[in-house]
Amino acid sequence: MTRAAAAVRPLVLMYHGVGTRTARRDPFCLFVPPDTLHRQLRGLLDRGWTPLTLGRYLRGDFPARSVLVTFDDGYRALLDEGVPVLRGLGFPATAFVLGGMFGATSTWMADMPDEPLLDADGVRALADAGLDVECHGWDHTDLVNADAATLTRQLGRAAAVLADITGRRARAFAYPYGAHDADARRAVAEAGFSLAFSVHDGAGRYAVPRVDINATETDATFRLKTWRGYPTARRMSGAVPSLRPALHALIGHAHRP
Ligand SMILES: [Zn+2]
Repeated sequence: MTRAAAAVRPLVLMYHGVGTRTARRDPFCLFVPPDTLHRQLRGLLDRGWTPLTLGRYLRGDFPARSVLVTFDDGYRALLDEGVPVLRGLGFPATAFVLGGMFGATSTWMADMPDEPLLDADGVRALADAGLDVECHGWDHTDLVNADAATLTRQLGRAAAVLADITGRRARAFAYPYGAHDADARRAVAEAGFSLAFSVHDGAGRYAVPRVDINATETDATFRLKTWRGYPTARRMSGAVPSLRPALHALIGHAHRP
């Protein structure tokens, strides 16, 4: 590990889908339009950020301003609309897909159950396009308080199915809903993963926090969220809830149809 890397961890961004969705079809603001994704990633490159593959992240050989871009859930639109943007920029990325949901839809979300997920060929196409295809569980079950049989299905079985498709063992896991507890973190380690990502709550190598990027970002909020002090500022605004509306009023949010 380089000196810079030892001092500063890479920025890890969490996206979900890529595409243009109405607020009605995407009530959780999970989809970022492709031109917005392009502008955000282009901006990172222009500001001197080094984009990482998962392998380089794991080896620890990165400069101080490094970023790992991740996409959760394995939406078909990631392949159709996200991959062209990534390829155009030569920007590496990591996708976390569900081992038991190939060709299904986002049924774990009652308010948007119909968003198509990649089938096995689509997942293979993601890997062929150069993305690191990693594990997001079997069917998006929350691992907090999960029993042993559930953990086995969500981790070991999901990883085995993924390995059959991509031809290599998944190294990283992303917790559904970002949710984890000590048993889940131990099970992820025992299942052979090298690291795991959460969202806001970090707990060592098996719960590395990520910054959530969603459809509400403006250029200003994206700049704020990729600022080194953002996670700390977010925690502080959580402690002083009255600051949040003031911050939002200041930086605004993207208009959605
Ligand atoms: Zn997810």
